[in-house]
Amino acid sequence: VITDPDTIAAFRLDRSGWDPGGQPLGVIQAESVAQVQETLRQANSDRIPVVVRGAGTGLAGAATAADGELVLDLSKLNRIREISPLDAVAVVEPGVITANVNRAAVQYGLRYAPDPASLEISTIGGNIATNAGGLLCAKYGVTRDWVLGLDVVLADGELISTGGRTRKGVTGYDLTSLFVGSEGTLGVIVGATLRLEPVPAATATVAAYFADVEQAADAAARLPALAAVVELIDPATMRAIDGTSEAFLLVQTDGGAAHAEADAVQEALSSTATRVLRARDSGEAERLVGIRRQALPALERIGRPLIEDIVVPRSRLAEAMRRLSRIGTETGVPIFTFAHAADGNLHPIIVIDRNTVGIPDEAWHAAEQVFALALELGGRLTGEHGVGVLKRRFVGTELGARSHRVQQQLRELFDPHAILNPGKAL
Ligand SMILES: Cc1cc2nc3c(=O)[nH]c(=O)nc-3n(C[C@H](O)[C@H](O)[C@H](O)COP(=O)(O)OP(=O)(O)OC[C@H]3O[C@@H](n4cnc5c(N)ncnc54)[C@H](O)[C@@H]3O)c2cc1C
Repeated sequence: VITDPDTIAAFRLDRSGWDPGGQPLGVIQAESVAQVQETLRQANSDRIPVVVRGAGTGLAGAATAADGELVLDLSKLNRIREISPLDAVAVVEPGVITANVNRAAVQYGLRYAPDPASLEISTIGGNIATNAGGLLCAKYGVTRDWVLGLDVVLADGELISTGGRTRKGVTGYDLTSLFVGSEGTLGVIVGATLRLEPVPAATATVAAYFADVEQAADAAARLPALAAVVELIDPATMRAIDGTSEAFLLVQTDGGAAHAEADAVQEALSSTATRVLRARDSGEAERLVGIRRQALPALERIGRPLIEDIVVPRSRLAEAMRRLSRIGTETGVPIFTFAHAADGNLHPIIVIDRNTVGIPDEAWHAAEQVFALALELGGRLTGEHGVGVLKRRFVGTELGARSHRVQQQLRELFDPHAILNPGKAL
């Protein structure tokens, strides 16, 4: 139990830039499931709000804690309990750093595919609670697709298990999926059984530059193969990365047909790209992937990035890119965009002056137009970062009043005294 104010301060915020102000009551660093249960039993009977925390890398304000709240830190519950090559599963505690699941699985020729860019700094519990995505989602899906079963401590301290370690299973409602993406509002995930898959036999990498970002988006939407990675970067972001003022598209294919598929991708892109590059070895592939990895650090050199996370149907990706750039021009707030293009998941980024405290009104104004655009194009407010605090007031617009209410009722069922992450997500 941490009560020292200076140490508590380190557990108060996430990476969203949102500051709820005030000082949490304290931090519980759980080292066992029994301690999580005891914490929730007490908090529930004393009506103390609990903010569950993995590594605090969230970008939606969901792990921030305010006055009177208790932080329940799970980073010390970090054992990999089992890797089973025969069942192709990993059984892990929630505080395991995501990349460590892979490092353990790879020794058996297996991998856990969801790969958020934060995989070296975020926890599997946080990834599950936000349904994190990553570059490989184009082919391999999001975190939800890889979670077979969960152990969850409910608001009253009771422990339940959902799902199992089999691929199939349709007994009862799918509570496992319900907990995935629940942002710490329905229960505390204390264990997870994750699906593993064989490491692909081969990977091929193609990159292309386009004079026109809409052409790049269009090419991304019409690729001739089911690529593992399809990442698009707009010219504004490319200028920040390396001074290039063209759009950049990165495509990776994998599996037994990786190279034949990459040939087809290369040919398709050549019709509209100004340049198409094919990595000849892993060093070149690394260099091309490195351009994408540079996107966020490059914007961080300019100022403080406010990272948005909308998603649109893939068929509307080109239109979304055009309209985002127009929002930037019309509001006078420059918008830098990169996208997990195959998923239609765009990260429009507003870069705020480093010395500005909080989020300025004009940035909010531009962000609101970005959210409205997502909904107008038949998309969603968040693709992978979650609602947290930052998007909460827009949730009803996307869900519709009745559906929003159903979700609130569901939340009340799991947490009748509203102690789990109140003021977040719904
Ligand atoms: C540089 C950078 C890159 C990023 N890239 C990506 C990306 O590519 N894709 C992506 O999806 N996200 C990305 N993120 C966002 C962030 O890393 C993810 O949202 C991640 O899943 C959060 O994990 P965490 O352990 O830090 O969780 P936290 O930030 O601590 O918590 C996030 C939410 O999960 C809840 N929670 C945490 N653990 C549990 C648990 N055990 N049980 C119940 N609820 C829990 C919290 O209450 C909170 O609501 C990035 C962030 C950064 C800083």
